[in-house]
Amino acid sequence: MAEHNFDVVILGGGSGGYAAALRSSQLGLSVALIERDKLGGTCLHRGCIPTKALLHSAEVADVTRDAGAVGVQATFQGIDMPQVNKYRDGIVDRLFKGLTGLVSAKDITVVAGEGSLVAPKTISVNGELYTGKNIVLATGSYSKTLPGLEIGGRVITSEHALQLDFVPSKVIVLGGGVIGVEFASIWRSFGTDVTIIEGLPTLVPNEDASVSKAMERAFRKRGINFKTGVRFQGVQQSATGVVATLENGESFDGELLLVAVGRGPNTAGFGYEENGIKMDRGYVLTNERLETSVPGVYAAGDIVPGLQLAHRGFQQGIFIAEEIAGQRPAAIDELGIPKVTYSEPEIASVGLTEAKAAETYGQDNISVYEYNLGGNGKSQILGTAGFVKLIRRNNGPIIGIHMIGSRVGEQIGEAQLIVNWEAFPEEVASLVHAHPTMNEAIGEAHMALAGKPLHAHA
Ligand SMILES: Cc1cc2nc3c(=O)[nH]c(=O)nc-3n(C[C@H](O)[C@H](O)[C@H](O)COP(=O)(O)OP(=O)(O)OC[C@H]3O[C@@H](n4cnc5c(N)ncnc54)[C@H](O)[C@@H]3O)c2cc1C
Repeated sequence: MAEHNFDVVILGGGSGGYAAALRSSQLGLSVALIERDKLGGTCLHRGCIPTKALLHSAEVADVTRDAGAVGVQATFQGIDMPQVNKYRDGIVDRLFKGLTGLVSAKDITVVAGEGSLVAPKTISVNGELYTGKNIVLATGSYSKTLPGLEIGGRVITSEHALQLDFVPSKVIVLGGGVIGVEFASIWRSFGTDVTIIEGLPTLVPNEDASVSKAMERAFRKRGINFKTGVRFQGVQQSATGVVATLENGESFDGELLLVAVGRGPNTAGFGYEENGIKMDRGYVLTNERLETSVPGVYAAGDIVPGLQLAHRGFQQGIFIAEEIAGQRPAAIDELGIPKVTYSEPEIASVGLTEAKAAETYGQDNISVYEYNLGGNGKSQILGTAGFVKLIRRNNGPIIGIHMIGSRVGEQIGEAQLIVNWEAFPEEVASLVHAHPTMNEAIGEAHMALAGKPLHAHA
């Protein structure tokens, strides 16, 4: 058996794995990157990028439908799904080429094939052994389902949903989290009759309660149906459709059922546990240096408990490379990781929700302010509703920012700097925000919280 030796051997070429590879190589380490499918992983091929391309087509459909209201004569005639998919694939292909070029320009050995640990520091791929002074596990995640709910036929996951070459007439979306609401939003814009079923009491239940409420209002207005706080019981498939039943006896029919109940760690069968790596329900446990229970074996991305987001994976990959190179980078603060839900409207948030802040510091020790986008010129021009909600510690910094409205995802950059740099509202209030931008809403909210509101009624 041929044996190859590297400073770093990385299993999985998704967001976490390829970031670790690029940064390791920048730092002069020799790197092998093992990937069984395509570099870029879920995010590039089946996640972030293709869904956002579809959301852009969805936005254009909505804008076209509403064009008359702003004096533009246009007629919405329908969705040409093969063309939507062609547009989406073009973007993915270009980014994939770019990434492949980036990786090959570095001195990274890309190994095609499925690998598994055969010793704590050795991965076997296609009968060859790759031994690393350090190992990075980054094998990503898969779409979960519920016990007894089989995927197949008209019961699909996000991977299948992205491959549809037609617009379904009626869909049931099981799960009102990020992936569920993004697909619900896309399909509604494409003309589909959508019903979301969510077992928890609200849509987007991980967000601040007022954001969840605003999201429900916005979806109701868009004609997206949802049932919350009731558990799914089962589904029957026929040649023409599905009927989903809930535990309260209600049932819903549709052409398809999208199962969007979260993502599970893809770790089974790769020799992790057998080689002494501590796991919990399939997740790889690490310390805050992202090192597993086996010294020199690190883990990044969706297999590490926490937010399953591409930019968290990138950051973890970079962190691990720097740690291996002896740079002792600062540990990643999970609370400071920005989150965006790219539906219409969008949600963008960073830091603590009001409930969490009250639980951590006591309700009397925090102040909360909600700036309504009704007072923001650009939001009025775009015809969007929503708000920027700030949470501060009294006489202290901003500890949470929560936004909802069209395009607010683009505002997350400033929000995350404010929270992560522990800025005081008084400091942000003195910074000038360009007029008229949606970004002004962040400035206005801080001005109001600092006691000097300008375009705010409260
Ligand atoms: C529909 C959808 C939309 C999303 N949208 C967003 C978004 O807008 N923003 C965001 O931040 N995140 C989004 N995500 C989440 C994001 O895609 C993940 O957080 C991210 O891809 C995780 O990166 P990773 O490196 O952990 O895993 P992955 O990207 O899953 O990469 C793991 C890689 O490892 C390979 N692999 C697995 N096992 C082996 C093995 N044994 N041998 C060799 N190779 C192996 C796989 O082929 C894969 O390429 C979305 C996810 C989905 C499903």
